[in-house]
Amino acid sequence: MYCIKCGVKLADSEKTCPLCNTTVFHPDLIQGEGESVFPSKKYPTAKDNTYLVQMFLSFAIALAIIIVLLCDWRIFGTVTWSGYVIGALVLGYVSVILPSWFKRANSVIFVPIDFCAVGVYLLYISLHTNGGWFLSFVFPLVGGLGVLITAFVALLKYLKKGKLYVVGGFFIALGGFMLLIEYMANITFEVGKFHGWSLYPLVSLAMLGLFLIFVAIYRPAREIMERKFFF
Ligand SMILES: [Zn+2]
Repeated sequence: MYCIKCGVKLADSEKTCPLCNTTVFHPDLIQGEGESVFPSKKYPTAKDNTYLVQMFLSFAIALAIIIVLLCDWRIFGTVTWSGYVIGALVLGYVSVILPSWFKRANSVIFVPIDFCAVGVYLLYISLHTNGGWFLSFVFPLVGGLGVLITAFVALLKYLKKGKLYVVGGFFIALGGFMLLIEYMANITFEVGKFHGWSLYPLVSLAMLGLFLIFVAIYRPAREIMERKFFF
């Protein structure tokens, strides 16, 4: 006998399906008192394991931070190089381990968090090395890229249709962003004249973006692409 809902094999004694809980009814069979074909004992699932790994990694990183801090402090009497190491450890934790604590980590929330973490880390380095390149270079670069990628991820996630337009638009925006990067780099590092290296990625990204938008608009092209790449 099989469950009418999920199709699992049932013993004659089963009154409800052990898998989906559907009531078992078979008019020709008198329900016996035999044993279930399924073990009643529940086994631990793989999820318990990830929790342990998360705990272990969290403690390992916390321990590493303490050791690094103590070493630096014992040798120099203050925070010198350890700040960079700790920053990198925190950055790794925020970007890799933190999202795994959530059952369904929303990328629209975690992408901007990652960019903020990168920004704060670079601000720290800039301040400690008297770089003076944060406000005019890193801030517009990381901030702009963060906004761009967050918008891209959000649109892909919540938009039902027109994803090809989003991807195409993203490539074009990314190309435009290259110009901004070169401009900001010139101002910050006083390169002087505009060399125009950013025009190469700009042109290639814009062409790729326009091609995708063309495919999205022009139906026959889309059908060929769909058949070729299965999307
Ligand atoms: Zn069932």
